[in-house]
Amino acid sequence: MSFKMNIKQNLKSIKSSIPDSVTLVAVSKTKPVSDLMEAYNAGQRIFGENKIQEMSEKQEVLPKDIEWHMIGHVQRNKVKYMASFVRLIHGVNNIKLLKEINKQALKHGRVIDCLLQIKIASEDSKFGMTPTEAYNLLQSEVILGLKNVKITGLMGMATFTDNKNQVKQEFNTLKQTFDNLKTIQTKNCELKTISMGMSGDYQLAIDCGSTMVRVGSSIFGERNYA
Ligand SMILES: *Cc1c(COP(=O)(O)O)cnc(C)c1O
Repeated sequence: MSFKMNIKQNLKSIKSSIPDSVTLVAVSKTKPVSDLMEAYNAGQRIFGENKIQEMSEKQEVLPKDIEWHMIGHVQRNKVKYMASFVRLIHGVNNIKLLKEINKQALKHGRVIDCLLQIKIASEDSKFGMTPTEAYNLLQSEVILGLKNVKITGLMGMATFTDNKNQVKQEFNTLKQTFDNLKTIQTKNCELKTISMGMSGDYQLAIDCGSTMVRVGSSIFGERNYA
């Protein structure tokens, strides 16, 4: 038996604890469309998923004014399945992926916003670029030719640990990287967003400068992967 989460109530209390300037992405991965609909009816319009297929299936049946964010690791061969609708891709970590997003966006006559994922965690399992790699990418000639993508910010995931000091240091690293890279402004690069913070650490992330938090279990309850 699992008890029913009060999604509406959870959303309300999270919204009231974050500043208006911070965007809340409701992370709905593994959750049924009925849960998403409940959040939608409570006013939530931005949803984050980490699997392209699951996101497309939900997008097909849910209201069309939802903004879909891809927050997971993106496989290049699957970009085509979300190119017609995805609003923001958080996990871009190499130029080849960016080229593929550009190619698929072009087919739909769209410009797709992307965040570069920076590796701030100490765990090997987490993806991302180093600040130097991100700098080199943003400065490269190649990127200027990619007219159907726009780099609008950075994303990072802290180490999964109870050590608040470590998490804080990692968030500070992302903020610092953002401040350094923000000075690079081209036609398709204008850094505005810092996507950092999840259920366990979003308050800390906001204190460290986050402008977008990705919150799942605190809204929808624990995920059951069984
Ligand atoms: C699942 C996930 C989240 C949300 O995690 P919670 O701890 O449930 O809030 C945030 N970001 C990414 C990249 C995720 O995969």
